[in-house]
Amino acid sequence: MEKTLAIIKPDAVERNLIGKILERIESNGFRIVAMKRTQLTLPVAEGFYYVHKERPFFKDLTTYMCTGPVVLLVLARDSAIAEWRKLMGATNPKDAEAGTIRKDFAIDIEKNSAHGSDSAENAAFEIAYFFSQTEIQE
Ligand code: GDP
Repeated sequence: MEKTLAIIKPDAVERNLIGKILERIESNGFRIVAMKRTQLTLPVAEGFYYVHKERPFFKDLTTYMCTGPVVLLVLARDSAIAEWRKLMGATNPKDAEAGTIRKDFAIDIEKNSAHGSDSAENAAFEIAYFFSQTEIQE
């Protein structure tokens, strides 16, 4: 079983989409092995997106992630990293395939409703950034 870090982003929490997104997660073979609803602060968001610090949208992205509460999740299944990215769909909802979370729920390329780790190395960093080992029950 592989683990990945997922976030239900502020735009989705704000529009009461937590339940709909969790339903898709559970019905697509993932187990939710840790979960919390919280509000990120700017330093926390900046630390989380450290790998993107040189990208032109870094300031917009980190500011947006602090505009409202988020739901942090650790998801487990075989190939969890790739499978969760597939279920989320492309970064820009305009490019996302039918039936994906971003196609069905996202507002635009920034307010795209969900986050997912993009590599095993980043998944390990991101899970440890938000959860202690005792908060994760497999
Ligand atoms: P992801 O792995 O699919 O989430 O995409 P990236 O790693 O490329 O980008 C991280 C996050 O930054 C995305 O999920 C978006 O919320 C945001 N983002 C990506 N591209 C842009 C952009 O061109 N402009 C803005 N404002 N935000 C962006």
